[in-house]
Amino acid sequence: MSQITRREWAAGMVMTALAASACKREPERPKPQPLDISQYQPKSMLHVKETQVQRSRFPVIDFHTHLTWGNPAGDSVRVPMQPDEILAVMDRKNIRLMVNLTGGYDKAFEQAIATFQTPHPERFMVFTQPWFNRIVEPGYPKFQADELDRAHKAGAKGLKVLKTLGLVLREQVDKGSLVKVDDPRFDPMWEAAGALKMPVAIHTSDPEAFFLPIDRFNERFEELNAHPDWSFHGKDYPSDRELQEARFRVLARHPRTQFVVLHVGDSENLAYISEALDRYPNMHVEFGARIGELGRQPRTARKFFDKHQDRILFGTDAVPHGVDTPQQIFCDQLYEIYYRFLETDDEYFDYAPAPVPPQGRWRIYGIELPEAILRKVYWENAARLLGLNPNPPKA
Ligand SMILES: [Zn+2]
Repeated sequence: MSQITRREWAAGMVMTALAASACKREPERPKPQPLDISQYQPKSMLHVKETQVQRSRFPVIDFHTHLTWGNPAGDSVRVPMQPDEILAVMDRKNIRLMVNLTGGYDKAFEQAIATFQTPHPERFMVFTQPWFNRIVEPGYPKFQADELDRAHKAGAKGLKVLKTLGLVLREQVDKGSLVKVDDPRFDPMWEAAGALKMPVAIHTSDPEAFFLPIDRFNERFEELNAHPDWSFHGKDYPSDRELQEARFRVLARHPRTQFVVLHVGDSENLAYISEALDRYPNMHVEFGARIGELGRQPRTARKFFDKHQDRILFGTDAVPHGVDTPQQIFCDQLYEIYYRFLETDDEYFDYAPAPVPPQGRWRIYGIELPEAILRKVYWENAARLLGLNPNPPKA
């Protein structure tokens, strides 16, 4: 008995000594293999529900697409995909109407109308754009207001303003100071849009991360690293908040004009946008290319949709053959992702048809909107602004 005890005691001493020496020894870990972050494509191991939403539950107006691009001179328009090819996708995905925002101006605009709206008036609407490079000319304010009237007579259903205003347009070509979003030279144009009942689709500023250094703390590092020209950090760029506030001053100054703030305005800060919607009755929002933001804050987003259900429009920012922006490539899969986000409670899925999430390495969650809100977001809210029947036509 005492021998066994002694043996056990001796064994215990040996183990203790081994453990002590193990503590002192450097742990032998295999050297981690280096991995370029751009090569990293982790596959989720979650076993969760995956819902295929081939068609939207109700007919859709896609309020934010780019089917044409007018050139600065206003004399020609680029058409990356012909209407027939686009219509085939629309029919499969239950899209009754697409709004082509970038119709350009002058002759280019007339071509855009002739290509899409004239042959298919029930399926396409074309917006016109301001003739920005004429801003330095004397008499521009009246000229631009008259141009809007002329475009309206030629078929323009609304006015689109790119983020160019505030971030690119300068007093002289490529130099001079940036023209402010609330520059009074545009006041007659905003007023004319209101008088003509043309909604204004306005894109101001960009993701908040685009205004920060492109470094390891930037949540959109890979996107900005691949496209450094998308950054508005430093130089003489205004801050995101300054741009947002300038746009709100325009909304306040032109209460009879209906504004659709594209990309939710500031999709990272829904509390800020929600307050603005409370303050400006002529404000609406559209969420093209921002389901990656809405879907990673699904509870906040769902409350936002509940509260502002009469002022939110469906849009994708779709671009036929878009290369740099997988989250915007016009295709069946793009719409299936949007529908899945709006209609299901699926968890942790990709917000873009791409092997790596292109706007940031996260995934999204569905917000499962009820039927009444879906009808408003898919159709009714846009129909009201565009002067269409509140009930979608039968396919
Ligand atoms: Zn766009």
